[in-house]
Amino acid sequence: MHISLPNEPPKLDQLAATCWIFDVDGCVVDSLLGTSLRPGAREILEHLHAHRIDVIWWSAGGADYAEKRAARFDVDHLVGRFAAKDERDENGRYDTVHLDIALVDVVFVDDRPEDMPVGAAVVAVPPYLIENHRDRGLKRAAELAGLPDKSELKER
Ligand SMILES: [Mg+2]
Repeated sequence: MHISLPNEPPKLDQLAATCWIFDVDGCVVDSLLGTSLRPGAREILEHLHAHRIDVIWWSAGGADYAEKRAARFDVDHLVGRFAAKDERDENGRYDTVHLDIALVDVVFVDDRPEDMPVGAAVVAVPPYLIENHRDRGLKRAAELAGLPDKSELKER
């Protein structure tokens, strides 16, 4: 299932996801230099943490790499686990066996949604390539997590 978000996106409690899994490069950290945390990422992580939602960062660079990235931006305490993206399943998607999750309980956030498991709930985000304070690529993820959109609130 790909989540297509209507005007009124489901809130976190409606989604009943107990775990959010974030890709790192190009998703929550810029892929070119790795020197910026994507705008909105910290707020989403804090929100999920406050709601006791399990958070995993996973990366093709490995679990240690993912943890170092999180530590660099001082959000590692908001992430429960770090994991590698390496094996592929029979559909050519990243295997999640090592994550010990039930797909029905999980939301993936990724700039390569086509790599996510078949049947998974995926929030596809545009690639975050380089530091950009105006980037709003995590807007849909924030809405889905139940965070108010500050930019829209200001405009009203
Ligand atoms: Mg990526």
